[in-house]
Amino acid sequence: MGTSVIKLLPEHIANQIAAGEVVQRPASVVKELMENALDAGASEIKVLIKDGGKTLIQVIDNGSGMNETDARMSLERHATSKISKADDLFAIQTKGFRGEALASIVAVSHTEIKTKTTEQELGTYIRVEGSKIVKQEPVAVPKGTSIAVKNLFFNIPARRKFLKSIQVEMKHIHDEFIRLALAHPQIKFTLIHNDNIVYQLPESGILQRITNIFGNKIKEKLVPVKEETNYIRIHGFVGKPEFAKLKRGEQFFFVNKRFIKSPYLNHAIMTAYEGLIKEKAHPSYFVFFEIDPKHIDVNIHPTKTEIKFDDESTVYSILKVAVKHSLGQFNLSPSMDFEHKPDLDIPYEMQKQSPKTPTIDVNPDFNPFETDFDNAKDFSIGHFKKESQKWDDFFSKTHEIASQLEQENTNIPLDLNWEQGYEAFQWLNKFIITTFQEKLLVIHQQRAHELILYKQFLKNANEGHLLQQKLIFPIELELQAHEMDLLKTFENELVAMGFELEFSEDQILVTAIPSSDIKLNIPDFFEKIIKLFSMNIEPSKEIIQEEIAKMLAKTSAIKTGQKLEKNSIDTLLKDLFKLESFLFSPNNKRIFVQMNENEILNQLNK
Ligand code: ADP
Ligand code: MG
Repeated sequence: MGTSVIKLLPEHIANQIAAGEVVQRPASVVKELMENALDAGASEIKVLIKDGGKTLIQVIDNGSGMNETDARMSLERHATSKISKADDLFAIQTKGFRGEALASIVAVSHTEIKTKTTEQELGTYIRVEGSKIVKQEPVAVPKGTSIAVKNLFFNIPARRKFLKSIQVEMKHIHDEFIRLALAHPQIKFTLIHNDNIVYQLPESGILQRITNIFGNKIKEKLVPVKEETNYIRIHGFVGKPEFAKLKRGEQFFFVNKRFIKSPYLNHAIMTAYEGLIKEKAHPSYFVFFEIDPKHIDVNIHPTKTEIKFDDESTVYSILKVAVKHSLGQFNLSPSMDFEHKPDLDIPYEMQKQSPKTPTIDVNPDFNPFETDFDNAKDFSIGHFKKESQKWDDFFSKTHEIASQLEQENTNIPLDLNWEQGYEAFQWLNKFIITTFQEKLLVIHQQRAHELILYKQFLKNANEGHLLQQKLIFPIELELQAHEMDLLKTFENELVAMGFELEFSEDQILVTAIPSSDIKLNIPDFFEKIIKLFSMNIEPSKEIIQEEIAKMLAKTSAIKTGQKLEKNSIDTLLKDLFKLESFLFSPNNKRIFVQMNENEILNQLNK
């Protein structure tokens, strides 16, 4: 009988092996410690890093803290306070639940823990070196927990050698940090690297949090997304198409406040942008899903960022529709000042935090997919709207609530009642200068007129009052066969806008154009439209109409450099300020700048 070769691994070796899975680099430690702080109910979390985490990773929180016994227990593998029975696994609300992280971290580092609960007078200090507790004593500390991890991988030289440069490790830490910070805007976060403050994020709403991380400019580039069904709620922001970048930018999905990666859902978003952005461009998005945990699979490895929904294709469809809808709805309206109503777009949190109920009730059980569930996979908004009047009601109700809240909470920068008794003149044949209340306005004439026309064209098309001007001399378009085919596919939308086309074997005649006093260079317009749509892959009817309206407005608007008579100036201003929103042109350029007395005095006194 030989000696047994099977031995129980010594605990510290088992821990090191586990550590290999959980702790890949400093960023993994940052993530685990921050998640524990969140699970402990902290309202403020500080992360201190030295040398990209190679020297120090410290996370300080003001959460529940641990008593002496729990502090020691927390270092054991499979020690968790978050799960006590199997059923809990199906309703995970915390970030961690496997009880592996701390055990793994202390196995491969020198760790110091200071922690105190509210009940305790004195807290506990524990020093661990490679899983061995080398010191423990009472310590005077505030309530909460501070965990300092030093010399990561001190006992695994091969791993330590494979750490990348400080910059690269810091980049990974940074990514983990912002993912958690974005998922929890109501919590204060600080990130300090080598004594420099990288982020200091106050408690805020989600949009403010995004702005605090990515800079003020991002606000103008985003539109809100919101959709609620009884299966899932979606809220957040997506980038306006014109800001899509070739470099994959800020793209974030969160499911129940947990960052996830999902090529599948990314695809849903890309489909919603189809035809709006260049093929290789990437839109930004910050999309939050709230779903009953029973519909997601928690049994996926905790350090991985994938997730499984029990009904992925429904999530796909709802997301796609939500994004399409919001692009359609907001793409062309001015970037609102969301800031004053950070809660508007996070109804889930709003319900939890503030008891204020809107005066219109939306039936929370209403599921717009009920009626047509089988086809839900690949409908476009246009198609679905026709099928289900419910959608219209649904959207218009949420929109109504949104605009009510907006009126309550937003400082609309200009009063909408633009009055008589003003003065205005043209300057440089480019701008119109006028005053409004206490402000001096310099208005870009071309952009203003583009917006007015754009809104007119869309209104005509949507309301079906066809304004149309028959052409006494129809205009023949000289097109190649494939261009004719392409144009044919958009004929309905063109007709809805007021065009009339006659197709024959080898030519197209334009016999009517959308009315009014527009000056339209017809061949030029069609050339541009064909170019635009040759890049598109089946955009929805709404989007086609918006694009046509945009193009029509652009080609027929008053141009920069054009001299305007007094009455044209008057009409232009009146039409402009009649609009519900008049801050940005259809191409999202600012329409005017404004200055108040103080700004002028500041200039004068410089
Ligand atoms: P898990 O998070 O999966 O439970 P961890 O190893 O990350 O496992 O943590 C083990 C336990 O230690 C947790 O369940 C929790 O009870 C306790 N703990 C860890 N970090 C903190 C903290 N910052 N504040 C309070 N308790 C903590
Ligand atoms: Mg944990």
